[in-house]
Amino acid sequence: MKRTAIYPGSFDPLTNGHLDVIQRAAKLFDRVIVAVAENESKHPLFTLAERVALVKSAVTKLPNVRTDSFSSLLVEYVAERKAQAIVRGLRAVSDFEFEFQLALMNRKLDESIETIFMMPKDTYTFLSSRIVKEIARLGGDVRSFVPPNVQIALKHKLKPAK
Ligand code: ADP
Repeated sequence: MKRTAIYPGSFDPLTNGHLDVIQRAAKLFDRVIVAVAENESKHPLFTLAERVALVKSAVTKLPNVRTDSFSSLLVEYVAERKAQAIVRGLRAVSDFEFEFQLALMNRKLDESIETIFMMPKDTYTFLSSRIVKEIARLGGDVRSFVPPNVQIALKHKLKPAK
């Protein structure tokens, strides 16, 4: 049986921390689906289509990684894709409470799905999409925090209107 994991998130935008988690998960599972959540309530900077495209082009070199989007309940999406696990990243203790609550709630909703937590390389533990957007907005250099395609997209998106 092929083992599939779903890595859900807003990915607004994808960072090197997310990529690190994707690479680790790709070694453990036969197939990893990076599932970009619509999350309109979070008022994302990038549209759903843009976020999906940015992930897609950053994972082309990983043969067992696919990109998708979803707007339904996560456990329903996981079952629909016949996946066994949800992958989430844990950076610091501050992530723990929310992630723990989410994992237990998902288990209540569907006991057959496991949540696996992966820790990124230590240099990425301080990285978040929110911080990257803040730095880019203020004209800072985000080269070491995001893949090149995301860096270009941020530049275009945040270009001051003429
Ligand atoms: P969400 O809105 O679902 O939290 P994110 O795109 O912010 O979506 O994050 C998706 C997942 O990736 C979450 O589990 C988050 O903790 C994790 N994550 C975010 N940034 C990093 C990072 N730098 N290193 C490891 N995991 C991360």
